[in-house]
Order: sequence, then C-alpha cells, then structure tokens
Amino acid sequence: MKKNDPASRIQDLRQFGEFGGVNPSITDSSTYTFLAADTMEDTFHGETQGCFLYSRHWNPSNKYLADALAALEETESGWITASGMAAITCTILELCNCGDHIVTSVTTYGGTFAFLKNYLPKFNIEVSFVNIADLESVEKAIQPNTRLIYTESLTNPLLQISDIPALSDICRKHGIQLIVDNTFSPMIISPARLGADIIVYSMTKFINGKNDCVAGAICSGTDFINGLSDVNKGTAMLLGPVLDPIRSSSILKNLHTLHIRMKQHSRNAMYLARRFSELGLKVIYPGLESHPHHDLMKKLMNEEFGFGGILAIDFGDHATSNKIMQLMQDKDIGYLAVSLGYFKTLFSCSGHSTSSEVPAEMQKEMGLSPGLTRFSVGLDNDIERTFDKILFCLKELKIIS
Ligand SMILES: *Cc1c(COP(=O)(O)O)cnc(C)c1O
Repeated sequence: MKKNDPASRIQDLRQFGEFGGVNPSITDSSTYTFLAADTMEDTFHGETQGCFLYSRHWNPSNKYLADALAALEETESGWITASGMAAITCTILELCNCGDHIVTSVTTYGGTFAFLKNYLPKFNIEVSFVNIADLESVEKAIQPNTRLIYTESLTNPLLQISDIPALSDICRKHGIQLIVDNTFSPMIISPARLGADIIVYSMTKFINGKNDCVAGAICSGTDFINGLSDVNKGTAMLLGPVLDPIRSSSILKNLHTLHIRMKQHSRNAMYLARRFSELGLKVIYPGLESHPHHDLMKKLMNEEFGFGGILAIDFGDHATSNKIMQLMQDKDIGYLAVSLGYFKTLFSCSGHSTSSEVPAEMQKEMGLSPGLTRFSVGLDNDIERTFDKILFCLKELKIIS
C-alpha cells in the first residue's frame, strides 16, 4: 500500500479567498441571498448544489474546514460542530433509534461515558461497556438490536489501542457501524483507512492546539453527512450545534501546522516516557515496549508522527499526584489543567478529573489507579531541561531518591 500521508493531503488543499487571499474568506453571515426565487425552494428540498441557505445548515467557512478534515481522514465528507461532544452525540443519535443497543469501551472519555451511561437510557438505548481490547468480549456483547461499536483509537487515560481493523471485521460480520474517536491521535492513526465508518473529533485538543476554543468534527461518507444535515430530519441540523465561522477559519489555519506539532509532541513524550521509566516510575506510553499494545500501535500507526503526546504516570495515590502537580506548576513545567494537545504541558489526576464520571469500582476494574496522572506533553524546545526540572520536583517530594 502507498505510504499514508495525511500531512501532504492537507498541504495540497486548494482553498483560497474570494479576492485571491491565501486564506479562504470568512463568511460571517447567518443567511444568504438567493438571486433567483426558484433556487430558494429547490435548496429547501435539497435539490441545489453549491447554494448556501442558512448557517446552521452549511456555512462556507465551516465547509472549508470540513473539506480539510475529510482530506485528513480520506473520507468523502466532513461536518463541523461546536464541540467534540456535539460531534459524538449527533453521530450516535443520528444512527440509533429507541430500543437500539451500543457496544463500547469502559475507558471512553468521561463526557462520552456519561452520555452513554446516563443520558441514552432516556431514549431506551441500551449500552454494553466492555474491555475493547478483548475482542472476544466485544463480539459476545453484540445483540440483534446492536447498531454500532463505539471506541477511541487511543483511550483516555490508560492509552489502550483499539484494534480498528479487527473491530471493523466484527462490524462487517454483524452489519453494524464502527465509530472511532480519534481525538488523541490525529495524523498518527487514520481510522477510515483501517476500517472505521465514522470518525469523530474533539478539535479542542490537538487539531486546534491552542486551547482558545471548543469545537468538533465528524468525518464519514457523503450519505451519512447528508443525512446528518438534512433540513427536515438531520440530527445536526435540528439539534443545531453549529460552530461560529470565525472560529472555524482560525482552526483551519492551525490545522496546517498539525503535522509539525504532532511530531514534536510525540518526540517530547517519548523522551520523557523513556527517562521516567528508567527511574523506575510506572509509566504508561504506547511508545514504550512495556506497553501492552506497543506492537499493535506500531502496526496501525503512520510511523513518522510518533506515538502521540499523552503519557500517564502512576504516583500511587491521589495526594502524591496532587503534590507533584502543584510543585510542577510552581516550577513552570506546565499547568495543572484538564484538556490536552496544548503547546504547554498540562497535567491532571485522571480519576479525580476527566474520568471522575466513571464510578470508583469501575475505575478499579479498568486499572485506573487513584494516583494516575496524565501528562499532555507540550512543544518544549529543550525537553531535557524540562525533564531535569521534573526530576528536581520528584526528588524534592522524595518520590525518587
Ligand atoms: C475532550 C474530548 C472529547 C469532548 O470534546 P469537547 O470538545 O470538550 O466537547 C471527546 N473525546 C475525547 C477523547 C476528548 O479528549
């Protein structure tokens, strides 16, 4: 197979502005004039190509960004939403009807987990939570009313790798859809190429990379995107989580540096993961040979972008995690904050923050220790200097001698 090169697909985009600007024009209009009255009626019936009607439906700036994401993922189409959660919830609600069933991982992002567990029962949609790495239990969980398997390419915070080709085979066999959240690994993993039907993103994280807004995206075939945006019954059109076009134009510009950022995040995270594990700390990072899914990751990844910018260290208990995070913040290593994919390092104690929606006994079952501390490693130019600073903190707190 030809080398997969998502970065060049973005680089090759031909999107310029109305007056020849090197950046596409921003269309900050909610509604659009029709030069011929007949065109308006046809557009409402979905019979006109290339006409914009109303910005909750389609907006030219969002269309540029959607096309760029479709190029990134090699899907026919894309759709932009006002948050990652909007991308996830609209996708699931578009596919599922009352009485349907979903199979998913116990380690999904906290908001997704809460939606699946606490919100979907309102619609009598049933969800089975399984260990997504255990393919046998995934297949066993499938029922006659199962509509989809939902997973994350890299799960949070344990960084399990989903075997997308194997999950796709299971989906094909049962005639159901595979949805993959690729928020942790844009460029690194190309889920559509590996057999996913729909890819969802929180662009809030690596894709935008600036932590200045919340946004999401859905990449899939044209039929699904057309259904989602159908004027009369599309979930995205009717629930209405549209991103402001001024935001989407700024995200599009940031997307053009994503490949460089991913390489640097990965390089820095790999360096820290190696050094921390040499110190005898319990480090979770898919780039380490000690990671249970290291070989699988190597098989699935687009190698030049590395193993990603997220690593986790188990400091044993919550109090120790808090102490080290506080000290690291005081020493300007980064910020004690949730979220990820930022140019500065961010750290948080997963069990007490981003995974706190997951009940304590389930956290224990999935191996999420109370001291597990997630690092979203920044773009530091001198990562050795950063490591030395962290080493100082670890010694100061007598975590290592
Ligand atoms: C942050 C995140 C989301 C939710 O995205 P928002 O933009 O905050 O709505 C979903 N999935 C993953 C893996 C995330 O990290």
